[in-house]
Amino acid sequence: MRLLLVEDDTMIGEAVLDALRGAHYAVDWVRDGEMADTALGSQTYDLVLLDLGLPKRDGLDVLRRLRARKSTTPVLIATARDAIGDRVAGLDAGADDYVVKPYDIDELQARIRAALRRGAGQAGPAFSHKGVSLNPATREASVNNVPVQLSAREWAVLEPMLSRPGVVFSRAQLEEKLFSWKDEVSSNAVEVYIHGVRKKLGPDFIQTVRGLGYLVPRA
Ligand code: CA
Repeated sequence: MRLLLVEDDTMIGEAVLDALRGAHYAVDWVRDGEMADTALGSQTYDLVLLDLGLPKRDGLDVLRRLRARKSTTPVLIATARDAIGDRVAGLDAGADDYVVKPYDIDELQARIRAALRRGAGQAGPAFSHKGVSLNPATREASVNNVPVQLSAREWAVLEPMLSRPGVVFSRAQLEEKLFSWKDEVSSNAVEVYIHGVRKKLGPDFIQTVRGLGYLVPRA
């Protein structure tokens, strides 16, 4: 999953970036509201972690502009412990949830997982489809309840498709899930990881749609 971290405090930003990358998310980090607005206008993210007090354009304004573009991307706002007014304003402007600063990293990760699940219409803790199950909290994968070991990048390619069966993902979209701006992308990376997933889950779980991309079929 690809996340946008919007945070102007360098120390906090570095700590959150480390934690999220450690949890295998592809993360882009921007430090002001203008850059956040630009990133959200040009890339598709699975979730945004949005500080409200930002240089150049404040977080509420970034959020309102995102929702005005009809984006349904889940947004978690970050507010100070005593800033109840900010939380109310943020939720009313279209945020999905809030986290309180200073961050408790475990709670932050759990709220991110919950928001990603809800964004995918899943109520339970795991993404499940046709016997294949991925639990983002435990990083456990299984096929018909038999555990399977997926590499972090095989997981990153499979998770978006498994969370939205029937939706075709282009190679470029899957590359976005795999890598952040600064990482190198080899031209056949997506094919390599899909090949790995097929060896573990069976050849037909992910289908190739010629000229378009890949999908996990609905039925
Ligand atoms: Ca701030």
